[in-house]
Amino acid sequence: MDNSQADSEVFHCGETVEPGEKKHIRYEVAENYLGDPVEIPVTIINGEQPGKTVFFSAGIHGDELNGVKVVQEIADRYEPEDIHGILVCLHVCNIPAYEAQQRYTPVYDQDMNRSFPGKARSNTTERMAHRIYNRFIEQCDLGIDFHTSTRNRTTIYHTRADLSDPTVERLARAFAANVILYGEGDAGALRTVATADGIPTITVEMGRAHRFQPILIDMALDGVESVLAEYAVRPGEPVRWPGWFKTTSAESTKRWLRADTGGLVEMQWGPYPLVREGETICTISDHFATEKHIVNAPFDGLIVGSLENPVAAPGHPLCHIVQLDEWTVEEIQREINHQEFDGYRAHGDTWKDE
Ligand SMILES: [Zn+2]
Repeated sequence: MDNSQADSEVFHCGETVEPGEKKHIRYEVAENYLGDPVEIPVTIINGEQPGKTVFFSAGIHGDELNGVKVVQEIADRYEPEDIHGILVCLHVCNIPAYEAQQRYTPVYDQDMNRSFPGKARSNTTERMAHRIYNRFIEQCDLGIDFHTSTRNRTTIYHTRADLSDPTVERLARAFAANVILYGEGDAGALRTVATADGIPTITVEMGRAHRFQPILIDMALDGVESVLAEYAVRPGEPVRWPGWFKTTSAESTKRWLRADTGGLVEMQWGPYPLVREGETICTISDHFATEKHIVNAPFDGLIVGSLENPVAAPGHPLCHIVQLDEWTVEEIQREINHQEFDGYRAHGDTWKDE
């Protein structure tokens, strides 16, 4: 889909938003038990000049708040005179889950991010997904969907993207996160469905649920600025390029270090997720503290996922490490020394999300 014709265009979403206009809209996607409308907050910023139409979505999982703050900031900071094209800001997509502050839609625990493109006549979540997809996403040229890890876990700041598609690769690189997890994505996930429809879309995973984490939010806003520059929505602005980056396939997420003994887990790594070969990652002890098993890093690497729950049985995943080459290790060490790596200071995390 390419909306970047020579002329500026009107954006239609029930209401019309003319070129040069910015509108905050409440768009009905469902009804609650009282028969009252369930409305998502949407901001449309229609640039004075024509260009790409870009969507930003958050709150598809109701307890993932970092992205909600990112979208609020995007909607606030850009004005029609600043941009060439249209910004579609979907502040909170899954309102029932957001109101309950939980990941899934409360009705039957449905996962909105397995429900796209949705259906007009199906369950509650599919209907909401359909309204969002049909009315907003289909009008866009590209998009970014913001997520965090789920409750009691955290995730390193990274992008998920299908890098086998060059249009997606361009978007992922422009967003400039250091870590990109590549793979097609799950069936029914917004990025999977939109990308298959010719709307290159990436997922951004950032930190914990139920929190605003300002460092991560600022990193994401820098990434957005870079994407807008790359696609000439903000012509003349610089495209960012990280000093290093690491891509890893979705399949490798299953290569976790696992516990061989049961007991109490104490993570030893941190505060930065960089570990050197042989360094202790965690210890597992019995309740009498008589036996202690030490789990060491098998190679130099970046810890991109680890369990926060401190009890383990044999076979439980402890953490997931991505191997790094010496050059990347040195570059990360340099960033740590210069406080440039502080967005990655964290303990624990997981890849189960999106
Ligand atoms: Zn999510």
